[in-house]
Amino acid sequence: MDEHSDGQTCRIQAAVLRKKGGPLKIESVEMEEPRDDEVLVRVVASGICRTDIDFCDDWDKADGAVVLGHEGAGVVERAGKKVKGVKPGDHVVLSYQSCGLCRQCRSGRPAHCTRLDELNFGFQRPDGSNGLQRSGVRGHFFGQSSFATYSLATERNLVKVSKHLPLELLAPLGCGVQTGAGTVMNSLNVSREESIAVFGTGAVGLAAVMASHLVKADPIIGVDIKPKRLKLALKLGATHAIDNRHQDVAGRIADITGKGVDYVVETTGSPEMHQLAISVLNPHGVVALLTGEEGTDALPEGRRTLGIIQGDAVPQHFIPKLIKLYLAGKFPFDRLVKFYKFKDINRAVADSKRGDTIKPVLRMSKA
Ligand SMILES: [Zn+2]
Ligand SMILES: [Zn+2]
Repeated sequence: MDEHSDGQTCRIQAAVLRKKGGPLKIESVEMEEPRDDEVLVRVVASGICRTDIDFCDDWDKADGAVVLGHEGAGVVERAGKKVKGVKPGDHVVLSYQSCGLCRQCRSGRPAHCTRLDELNFGFQRPDGSNGLQRSGVRGHFFGQSSFATYSLATERNLVKVSKHLPLELLAPLGCGVQTGAGTVMNSLNVSREESIAVFGTGAVGLAAVMASHLVKADPIIGVDIKPKRLKLALKLGATHAIDNRHQDVAGRIADITGKGVDYVVETTGSPEMHQLAISVLNPHGVVALLTGEEGTDALPEGRRTLGIIQGDAVPQHFIPKLIKLYLAGKFPFDRLVKFYKFKDINRAVADSKRGDTIKPVLRMSKA
């Protein structure tokens, strides 16, 4: 074990970002011991999500040195004395952070938490402090900063899972997979025989395709520029695939459905794809924007765009549900995953950016 604890702090290895575009450098960092309401998690694995990569590319000097990572999975090492739900040795999946106190959180909608931005992107605890400050580094990204050998989480953003499951595989459930599946199953509540197009068949888009197949949507149209990803989309439940470098997407959708589609899940973030999504929508149809953009109602015939966060999922309910579906063979998200050693984090990021790897997962330690 590489950890040394003096009672107040422990030494961990963390991938630190100090420069726009990276690289992420694995450094020895001093981390505070868990507070009464915190849980110290030994990270077994962490997925790499688009948001990590975007943050890296948009990094600004004012951000300072930070530790990213928000799809952690691991084993509880120590728990503060106010923590009731988990104990040392428990296996957990980490997800996004929410305050638990605002009206949205109390009504079971943590994805709409009024403090969502500061708790997930503020690199601080809810009280503004930072457990990595002694090393001049900022943590607590999504309440976890999981590109590290250890993570400080809270009960709000962890989900206890069975010890019989492959923990390293479950890591991406905490953000990307939950977001794609939750958008279809929770936010849009897509029903049998409704038509859906998924723009961008990366990890989030493919999770949306699998969920669409699960709820028996028809047709399910995958749109991407990578033939390899479109091939996988067809295997995971898409009924049609459109390569938008070589094909006219609107024309093809009209051919397939005879009109437009009831839903578009837009994951690409490109303004052209956003406009295209609106243009192929049936009356009363919805475009789900998984790109951080706000939605709008100001479209003709009841069409809408909807900005969606984390698929409106309550992680403690939705992640166990996805695990059950996976075990029943109905949600094979393992087909998106490729594993890397922690030290190869920059290669994993590069592979993901090129689109060669759909969901890179870093292994930090053995379960
Ligand atoms: Zn809240
Ligand atoms: Zn994410």
